[in-house]
Amino acid sequence: MDRTLNESIDLKSLTPEGIDRFCTEELGQKPCQGTRVAVWLYRKQVEDFDAMEDLNRPFREQLKRHSFLSSLAIEKQSASEDGTSKLLYRLGDGNTVEGVLIPGPNRLTLCVSSQVGCASGCGFCLTGSEGLVRNLAVSEMVNQFFAALKIIGDQPITNIVLMGTGEPLSNYAAVKSFVEIVTDRNGMGYSPKKVTLSTCGIAPMIERMAGEMEASLAVSLHATTDELRNRLMPVNKTYPIARLMEALRLYCDKTGRTVTIEYMLMKGINDSNEDAKRLMELLRNLPCMINILLFNPFPGCAYERPDEQRAFVFRDMLLLNNFVTVVRNSRGRDVHAACGQLRAGRSDQ
Ligand code: SF4
Repeated sequence: MDRTLNESIDLKSLTPEGIDRFCTEELGQKPCQGTRVAVWLYRKQVEDFDAMEDLNRPFREQLKRHSFLSSLAIEKQSASEDGTSKLLYRLGDGNTVEGVLIPGPNRLTLCVSSQVGCASGCGFCLTGSEGLVRNLAVSEMVNQFFAALKIIGDQPITNIVLMGTGEPLSNYAAVKSFVEIVTDRNGMGYSPKKVTLSTCGIAPMIERMAGEMEASLAVSLHATTDELRNRLMPVNKTYPIARLMEALRLYCDKTGRTVTIEYMLMKGINDSNEDAKRLMELLRNLPCMINILLFNPFPGCAYERPDEQRAFVFRDMLLLNNFVTVVRNSRGRDVHAACGQLRAGRSDQ
């Protein structure tokens, strides 16, 4: 660690292994003492060193002197008619990001942001239209979880999705540490099946993630030709569909996991029967499931939402050809919490 002991460190910026290393290398504690701190913090969500009962007092005093636990405030909570809550977090530098709590039968999903804004520039996404401000730190992602816990009472968060503002694979190192904190047995202990990272398709990072991150993968495809995908998602100019498919096949081979393909229907743009046929051709032999979404318009956007009947026809074509396909209801549309509707706020706005 590149610090002196006079500098205090935010333990929420460290993985469980990182906390243990800090406690042994910098505080001179025996191995595994730091792991107990990680379990108190991440598994039991105890944010007061004095309440970490099985740590001896001198160790707790050392922790107070040389480390701290940051926090994040929820500035605003907007409740949707369908039970979804949009959360506005105020960051230390004045910027804001949004997140979403989505209740379901026997589950409560927290949607976490990974960047303030996003550089990917997808044409159907409000965040993308505003550009990138900065990456979030590990502790800022961890604190979205802690802040959400404080407003939900006893209800556990069962699933975590990195689908808020930002492209997670463009903030790779911090997101990798966050995923480790969330899935490590000395961290929050979530199964990788309950943690999903959603990407616009940065092919080489998908390949890297396959060997390094214990999380499920969702990919926003949204188009079946490079011509259209170039227009909708600029990332396609760098990593065209064939390159993306190559990365997804490698990911599935290496991890043994199934990938989720997100396909958002936009009226008259990508919702024809021909699109469905091309989609099946692309996904043939890829271990995947397909989520069909309906576009959520926002002021000034160029696309329209198709009617639900079109979505069901599109889905049925895929189902008839044995593709596991679901039409997903967008949750929280009335409070602009649905896919593509989140925004990031700059401190100067
Ligand atoms: S859809 Fe995701 S990757 Fe694309 S601009 Fe929006 S936040 Fe960024």
